[in-house]
This record gives sequence, C-alpha cells and structure tokens, in this order.
Amino acid sequence: MAKESALYIKEAIESLGGVATLNQIYEKCPRYQKSSIRRTIQEHSSDTTTTPKYEDIFFTVNGLGSGVWGVRNYLLPIQPEVIKVETFLSPSKEATPAQRILTNFYRVSRDTALVNEIKKIVDYQCQLCELKLPLSESKWYIEGHHIKPLGKPYNGPDIKENILIVCPNCHVKCDYKLIELSMDMIKNNKQNIQQEYLEFHNEEYRIKVETK
Ligand SMILES: [Zn+2]
Repeated sequence: MAKESALYIKEAIESLGGVATLNQIYEKCPRYQKSSIRRTIQEHSSDTTTTPKYEDIFFTVNGLGSGVWGVRNYLLPIQPEVIKVETFLSPSKEATPAQRILTNFYRVSRDTALVNEIKKIVDYQCQLCELKLPLSESKWYIEGHHIKPLGKPYNGPDIKENILIVCPNCHVKCDYKLIELSMDMIKNNKQNIQQEYLEFHNEEYRIKVETK
C-alpha cells in the first residue's frame, strides 16, 4: 500500500514537472486523503527528521515546511528558458546533473504573477547585493524569496511585503539563514517589505547559530 501510493504520488509530481506544491499534489491525487499523502511523502524522504521508512524518493525544495516537494533524480526536459540559464552557468553547455537540478529549482521558484510583478518593480536587480544578471539584452535572471515561507508550519503570506527579490547567491544565503537581514540592507524597497518578516528570518537565523 505504501509503495503503491508513493509511486502514484511520484508520477503525479513528475507530471507537474518533477517538483510541486502540496496543494498541486493533493489535486492530482484525489484518491488519497491529504494527511496520507503527506505521511507517504515523509516516509519516503530522507529530508524528514526521521530516517525514511521506505525507499528515498522525495526531497524538499525549499526546506521542510515550505510545502514544495520534488522527485529525486528526476530531470526536467530542458526548456528554452532553462537552457539560457544553463548557458550562463556552464558556457560549455554541458551542464552537470547537479546544475540541471539547480536550474529546475530556479524554474520552479520563479513562477507566481505577484513575484514577477515585484521583479519588474525593482528592475530585476538583487535587493541585497544589487547584482543584475543578464540573460539577453532585455532579460535578466532573478528570483523571488518569501521571507516567511508559504505553507505549513510557517504559513507566511503571499503578499508583496513578504517577498524579497534576490540573485541566486543571496537566495541561498536567505534560504539557509546564513545572514541576518535588516531594513538597511534592502535596496530599492519599493514593495515595502515589513519588519515583522525580517524578524521572523532573524529569529530562524539565531536558532540556527545557537544549534550549530
Ligand atoms: Zn544578491
């Protein structure tokens, strides 16, 4: 039973491009209850706090609690925009599997209309280090970071005041809580990022430092 439902969920995620939010997975798997989908994923992932009970099939995309899961070792068919990113990362065009996985991650983290709107407002420039990464003469590569993550257990809001626009480097620093954030650090704060979200980030940062 566990194996059968895990394979069903795996296929559902693959049909969504290899990575999907829990809500997308629920929609694709109406035959299972939400709680049993979550349990099945967790029992098949070494990213959960417990050792996986079964085969290690799933990984978290933005960390536990973000509600985004991917299928391990699943590579997306390369799409035109992804190729551009890969070309940038790897001039030889022979991207390694690790780089492909990274570009899949970029593709997924790029998508909401709200994030795109804020990217435009801040002129596609990293709000932490001010890097502007050209893909072509009129296109730039940049990512959106929900400072307080969406989904359980954080339930951060999907509003512009909670979305920081960052380059891939700064995105990693934010995701992994490698830096503290302050209002002074945020350039061009046209979306009016709120202090409460920075405080959430810094609290996570302190917990991480203390448990090192
Ligand atoms: Zn940056």
